Order: sequence, then C-alpha cells, then structure tokens
Amino acid sequence: MRKLSLLIAILIPVAIFAQNNIKIFKSELAENIDLHQIAGKCNLIAVYGYNSVVLIDAGYGSTGKMVKDTLKTDNVKYIINTHWHSDHTGGNIAFDKDVNIIAHENTYKRVSTTQKLFGKDSKPLPEYAQPDMRIKKKTVIDFYEHKIEIIPLTGGHTDGDVIVYLPNSKVLAVGDLLFAGLYPFVDTENGGNMYKYFKNIEWITKNIPADVKVVGGHGPVFSIEQYKQYLKTLKETVKIVSDLKKDGKTMEDIIKSECLKEYADYGKFFITEPFWIETIYKSL
Ligand SMILES: [Zn+2]
Repeated sequence: MRKLSLLIAILIPVAIFAQNNIKIFKSELAENIDLHQIAGKCNLIAVYGYNSVVLIDAGYGSTGKMVKDTLKTDNVKYIINTHWHSDHTGGNIAFDKDVNIIAHENTYKRVSTTQKLFGKDSKPLPEYAQPDMRIKKKTVIDFYEHKIEIIPLTGGHTDGDVIVYLPNSKVLAVGDLLFAGLYPFVDTENGGNMYKYFKNIEWITKNIPADVKVVGGHGPVFSIEQYKQYLKTLKETVKIVSDLKKDGKTMEDIIKSECLKEYADYGKFFITEPFWIETIYKSL
C-alpha cells in the first residue's frame, strides 16, 4: 500500500480557509490524520487512506462546503457522526449523496425527524444527509493503515453518542463527551444525563490507553490525564452546588452567589456558569 506523502508537516494550527470571517484551523494529529477546528472551537477529524478520507463529524451546515474544500481529497469514503447535534451533522449536506454516513441508531432517529433543542424545533436533515449505516454496538472499520473503532457510549451527552478510537495512531475522538476546558452541554431533552456523562468519561479513561490524544467536540486536544482532571473539576463544581442545595438554597440563590467564581474560564463558551449551575441543580 502506498503511503500518502504529506506535502507540508503542519505542527502548529494554521488558518487554511476563511469565509465570512469564519476560519478553519488545521493541524496534524498523527500521520495521515488531521484535526480541523472551525473558528478554533468546533472540531472534526480527517483520516486519510490512499486518495480517500474518512471524516469524523462534519461541522455546521453553514461550514460544510468550507470543510469539504479543506480536505486533501474529494473522495470521502465515510462520515462518522458522533451524535445528532447540528454542529456535528449539519455539514453532511455538503457531501455527495453516495457518501456512507455512519452513526448510532438514535442519532439517525433524531436527524430524520423534527426535534426540540433549547425549546426550539430542530429540523431533520435532508434524506441523503442522514446516516445510512446505523449502529448499536461496537463497529470496526479497516481503512488502509487505520483501524477505526466506533464505540457507542450513549446516555451522557445525548442518547446517540459514539466515540471513535484509532488505536494504530493513538487518536481518540469523543465528540461532545469533552468540551475541553469548558463546561459541557448535557442534552437532557434528548437522552443526556449528567451522571451518565461522568460515567462515560470514567469508562473512557479506564478503558482507553493513557497515551492517546483525546479530541473533544470543542476546545483543544487533551491527554487522558487532562481528561481525568477535567472530570475531577466538573465533579468539584457539582459538589459545591449540591452542598448549597442541601443548605436549602434555591437555584436562583446559587446562581447569584457566584459560587463557581474560581472556575470562571469554564463558562466562556455557550454553557455559561448560570447554565451549568442549572444543569447541576436539575440533575441532583
Ligand atoms: Zn453536541
């Protein structure tokens, strides 16, 4: 088998495409595996074989074409969606109708019908952009030198989460089971649960080798050690809110108390501190 020759070894992320002020940053995760970060915040991974590519997540609908243009080949063999949210599945629409799209059965259910998210309707994807290879159990694909393990880990972020493990290159995509350095979104309207979210992270840190690069749906690449620390921090915040609730404080009191002040950096993405306190309070 012929190996792809990399034209440029990119060690630091560089903006490779910009449109309407949105930039996509690309960096190399491992040989023939690139990380694409849309606006530096929303991650997807391109895994290259000979003249073809497997995409792990597809970004937003509005950036699908941009993502397609940043790939080294037009020949997309598979798209794997880690879960149903439109910042991971929306980009499916930019790819040819014959591209195989792999996702959990529950992800298919959610992108093929109208869903509620943040109280608003989320419309289905067009039929050609819906997953046609629906899985419920661990599925392994041999793609050139890559072994691609798709492992369902549901009920934490949504009811259709899968993680994607590439043991040969020590890369792990965990979708939105990691918002690196940020409070996570737990989609309780669509099968997510905070405790299960933590349990799923525990499962990953116990079952996946410690030397992998962990790519979450959002934020920088983490080591397994950082991922463990992340979980520890989230649990600390739960303890603080839980103690205040036990003292009889209402959710509004807790939000006003600024009890998570020392974790302020975690609230800088769309799950702000009040939103995270609400998630915890309602999960207790
Ligand atoms: Zn998500």
